[in-house]
Amino acid sequence: MSENLDPFTISQKQLYDACKISGYDNQIYNALKTPERFVEIKITMKMDDKTLKTFRGFRSQYNSARGPMKGGIRWHPEESASLVKALSAWMTWKCACVDIPLGGAKGGIICNPKEMSNRELETLARNYIRELADIIGPNIDVPAPDVYTNPQIMAWMMDEYEKIVRKHAPSVITGKPLPLGGSAGRSIATAQGGVYCIRDATKDLGLNLNGATVAIQGYGNAGSWAAKILQDSFNCKIIAVSDSKGGIYDENGINSHEAALHKEKTRSVIGLKDTKQISNAELLELNCDILIPAALENVITRENVDNINCKIIAELANGPTTPDADQTLFKKGIHVIPDFLCNAGGVTVSYFEMVQGYYRYFWTEKEVFEALDRVMTKAYRSTIDQAQKYNTHNRMGAYIIALERVINAMKLRGWL
Ligand code: NAD
Repeated sequence: MSENLDPFTISQKQLYDACKISGYDNQIYNALKTPERFVEIKITMKMDDKTLKTFRGFRSQYNSARGPMKGGIRWHPEESASLVKALSAWMTWKCACVDIPLGGAKGGIICNPKEMSNRELETLARNYIRELADIIGPNIDVPAPDVYTNPQIMAWMMDEYEKIVRKHAPSVITGKPLPLGGSAGRSIATAQGGVYCIRDATKDLGLNLNGATVAIQGYGNAGSWAAKILQDSFNCKIIAVSDSKGGIYDENGINSHEAALHKEKTRSVIGLKDTKQISNAELLELNCDILIPAALENVITRENVDNINCKIIAELANGPTTPDADQTLFKKGIHVIPDFLCNAGGVTVSYFEMVQGYYRYFWTEKEVFEALDRVMTKAYRSTIDQAQKYNTHNRMGAYIIALERVINAMKLRGWL
């Protein structure tokens, strides 16, 4: 039988397994397995060429027991209701795992932003917020960027929300540009948080980061910053990187800054001088110390897991590994830093952005990263400790911590 790759089914299976390991019964699982609210919207708008186009969008509000819900907005041709629900579940477990006082949500629009003009992107952003204004807000649900959305899109969304509520409300959204109340370090934060985990994992494994070989799938916000930090601060050797068009390889090391500049100029990393072109599939199977999936979900599956050949997998992407592959990686002794721990730096600094927004008092980048390091180091250590205590893989370790916190909050509220 082939593996079920439906993202929401996968997130429910992980939750089911975590409930079993933690000793929660089916009633608890049933209370947790679906979002509190799921909204589907339609946006019809005039494109630059005067044609009318209709888009479908979503917002999934998964769990609000621990605080206002939080989650990014993804604009992608392959976006789906199932994926948005799964991502909203993972946001819930993520905020609980790193112990920030927020619930989980996620949003998206099925579209291809690469084919749209700036005016079209702005119209789409403002329409999305007009449709959802009643159910988002600084104390309800706070969106942020995700794949193919960025600080400019967050700025338009914040402005539209403020026009509707007729007052300043910068904490309605995070990932804003700095002049509009963004946080120092926010665009680097996802990668920086992951790097703190990688640093601690290499200590656990007795692996020297200096000269360690790294392959990164996805060279957007998360992936490209991870490459730059690992190269500049730890002298890692980045042997391969990729994007949606394919990958590049150089056993002597790719200069991460040159790769970013090349992608900015040509829209792909492919063609960077002195590198060999490889496919995304080949990149995942390279012999390296650290493999970083930083693009989309379901890339390490039953089909390719036997060929994965690294010591650490640091999941900056959400949902890159299927449950079947998780079991095999555990048996192979590959140290996985699971997604909702590894990429939690983004939402943690988003939370710092909300806090700074409330006070209208802003921290330096150094202060932001010191606070982030404390959060990530603690969450990494508790995850590994739980996994060892229950003799399970690290993803289950992270689930055990997250579930306990969410269930406790629900019980205290009288929901369970
Ligand atoms: P991004 O839009 O900045 O970059 C995405 C990158 O993935 C691009 O380089 C794109 O070319 C590449 N890509 C797209 N499809 C691909 C494919 N089929 N194969 C290989 N590469 C492909 O997005 P991002 O913000 O860097 O997000 C990447 C992942 O990290 C997503 O899973 C996202 O949910 C997760 N994440 C991001 C943040 C954040 O703060 N940005 C936080 C937490 C998790």
